Amino acid sequence: MPAVGRVCGQEAGPASCTADVLARGLCRSHYRRLARGGTLDPDEPAIGSPAGHGRWGIIDPDPVDPGRLICHICGRSYVALGVHIGMVHDDGVRAYRLAHGLPMSASLAAPQLAARLAEAAQDAVDRLVDVRRSDHLADVPQDIIARGRRLTRRTPD
Ligand SMILES: [Zn+2]
Ligand SMILES: [Zn+2]
Repeated sequence: MPAVGRVCGQEAGPASCTADVLARGLCRSHYRRLARGGTLDPDEPAIGSPAGHGRWGIIDPDPVDPGRLICHICGRSYVALGVHIGMVHDDGVRAYRLAHGLPMSASLAAPQLAARLAEAAQDAVDRLVDVRRSDHLADVPQDIIARGRRLTRRTPD
């Protein structure tokens, strides 16, 4: 999918970067740098260096309970870290990702939860009605058609 109008520095890249997004919210040069294990900006901390309660660029599982992820801000661990950040920390998930070097595409859900969410998403896709086929539409309730259209428009976070 082309990323028209999306700017690296406004997504996962360092704020000063004005290049177009290539992939994972990054421009070509920043994407390559990150793929080589480098950092996004010479001034930014190296990946794995301390950042709040975690490490920069890394979402750590709770060593006591690996089914939970540690919040960089408060140090407590959560299964659905993204939900916790959105509810408890005022600046929200986007600011959290930027502040701790986490790509916009990185999952903030613990592995088991991520697997369940992916399963639920697949279930929803399996239940989708193909609204492009008119013969298919005739015997389908309108609310299901509307739901199908909403789901196909949605992009996962
Ligand atoms: Zn960039
Ligand atoms: Zn927190």
